[in-house]
Amino acid sequence: MNVQLLREWFDELASAGVDRGGGVTRLAYSAEEDLMFQKVASFAAGLGLSAAEDCVGNMYISFPGMEDEACHTIGSHLDSVPRGGMYDGVIGVLAGLLVMEKVRRLGLPIPVKTAAFRCEESSLYGLATAGSGAVTGSFDVPHLKRVKSLSGESLYDAMTKKGYSPGTCVLKPMLDFTEIHIEQGRVLWESGEKIGVVTAIAAPTRLKVTFHGRQDHSGATPMDLRKDALCAAAEVILAVEKAGRDEKHHATVATTGVVQVTPGALNVIPGAAELRIDIRGIDKDSISRAAEAIRGAIKDAERTRGIPCDVEIISASDPVALDEGVIESLAGAAEKSSLSWRRMASGAGHDAMKVAPLYPAGMVFIPCREGISHSPEEEASLEDVALGAEVILEGIKIRRGMV
Ligand SMILES: [Zn+2]
Repeated sequence: MNVQLLREWFDELASAGVDRGGGVTRLAYSAEEDLMFQKVASFAAGLGLSAAEDCVGNMYISFPGMEDEACHTIGSHLDSVPRGGMYDGVIGVLAGLLVMEKVRRLGLPIPVKTAAFRCEESSLYGLATAGSGAVTGSFDVPHLKRVKSLSGESLYDAMTKKGYSPGTCVLKPMLDFTEIHIEQGRVLWESGEKIGVVTAIAAPTRLKVTFHGRQDHSGATPMDLRKDALCAAAEVILAVEKAGRDEKHHATVATTGVVQVTPGALNVIPGAAELRIDIRGIDKDSISRAAEAIRGAIKDAERTRGIPCDVEIISASDPVALDEGVIESLAGAAEKSSLSWRRMASGAGHDAMKVAPLYPAGMVFIPCREGISHSPEEEASLEDVALGAEVILEGIKIRRGMV
């Protein structure tokens, strides 16, 4: 693989969405995400490849003349969380270009494409893998209209404002899909292994929980007369942590990542408090038990405090098993490469889980420093990205019976 070219691309992307607070902020359907897509399209043009968008702005890069052909497709996403890292998603797209460059340079008879999906991160709209989900039947137009940013804009509006027309296209046929991604955890980093062949992807269950208390004067309202929405929410936050801890033997985790208090003033008792809760695992029963425990805690807080609560399920999807044939070919490629590797599950969600129900899908993890991700401190080695890309290419050769 041409690591030097990969480094040039990576350096060129470094300036997009630089956040003064550290790291990069390239939110879904923002000017910064657009810039990432433009830059990657220009890398593709530099290789003589053609790039085309679909109805929600996902991009597919093809060898000229092969735009409509089903190919081995490699890809990931280009958006980031606020103050995120530069490797998450991006390396999966660049690895696709890297494989295409090598295939062309060596004249290999392998049909391959690169895909870059929009809005993989749930930071803005609370909906992850929205770009891939919108073209694979996971999220229909009513769903895209329902999910909104904290400022009240729906994802559907964000898409149409950019000139896209969600609901009017589906993912074109692929031979298969492989995604290379940083692990975003510490397993490979601590074991010193270079490659993780992913067997299954944990799916998030996400809840939006809103307590409706009573907004009152914080000085003139005695403690017994209060309906403090934030205090009710606080009980739920600790219950979320406990629900995760109680299911840790099944690798289930639970997090409250957003607390929004209305009106959020020092001298006002919170009238409303909104929580956004994320539960993940690869064991469906364990996820259900954690969700039930959290629902129980919400009911308790409602009852004991007399504060009503709305619960909205933002998403609830099942864990996704990846394709046996793709997994075995990647395992075979990793074994042949004499790199140290392991099979593992993914705790984080990825675009591959949206493609998996339609076409055979697989994933390769590479280590990231200390397992840090969704942080300005996120770091991975571009040499490792190239090794991962090599495993993907060798995996394709195995599936095509070329080796
Ligand atoms: Zn990612």
